[in-house]
Amino acid sequence: MDIKREVTENCSGHDRVVKFLRDQLLSGSLKAGDSLLPERELSLKLGVSRPVLREALRALAMIGAVEIRHGIGTVVTKPDVSLFGEFFTFVLAHQPNVVDDVMQARIAIERQAIRLACSRGTQSDYDRLADCLREISDTIHAPEAGGRADYRFHETIVSASGSPTLISIYQSISLLMQRSHLDRREQIIQVEGIEAFLIDHHRAIFAAIVERDEDQADELLSRHFEIGADFRRRATIRMFDFPAVTHRP
Ligand SMILES: [Zn+2]
Repeated sequence: MDIKREVTENCSGHDRVVKFLRDQLLSGSLKAGDSLLPERELSLKLGVSRPVLREALRALAMIGAVEIRHGIGTVVTKPDVSLFGEFFTFVLAHQPNVVDDVMQARIAIERQAIRLACSRGTQSDYDRLADCLREISDTIHAPEAGGRADYRFHETIVSASGSPTLISIYQSISLLMQRSHLDRREQIIQVEGIEAFLIDHHRAIFAAIVERDEDQADELLSRHFEIGADFRRRATIRMFDFPAVTHRP
């Protein structure tokens, strides 16, 4: 497939308005807080009718890219990425095994994020990670609160990466990840040795980040996912560990 710059000639009026805003943002000509040209001027500039312009701006307002302020005009806004969590959940929910598949995206994002966190992490990131670690320890016997604490620890690593793109992608699948954290925690909590593993392993990951040891942090995180999957497999065996039922012919 050829990768070309988009041409506007064949675009619908709606697409032209959307492309205009996107291009202006990417080139830095517009940023959050800036006002768009008045409706009449903008419709002339883009060669679209005013009803089409209005409709396109309303659609952009729905995704939080602009805000239509009556009596003032249209102002550029930064969409709240957490809104897309719902959107992605609906998109991905159609797939079978979505929670397992989201795990693959999570591994890819977190392994790069932890490397960046080692070089870019700040004292306030370490403090937040230490709080999360304490929370993991305090909630170790409660699957729901424990699953949430575990999620927050990993989310804090991604935010310590300082990469807005990684953080946004991670947030957009956060609803599905939180669900997977909870499901896993409920499954594995019965497995022997899980509590010590959960506390010790998160602490070791935390130490590697603070030591700024990228390879060690990545290696530990990769093992974290593997061991997590292993505990989950063992939890599946336990599900069949019920007393034998007498079989009557
Ligand atoms: Zn974890």
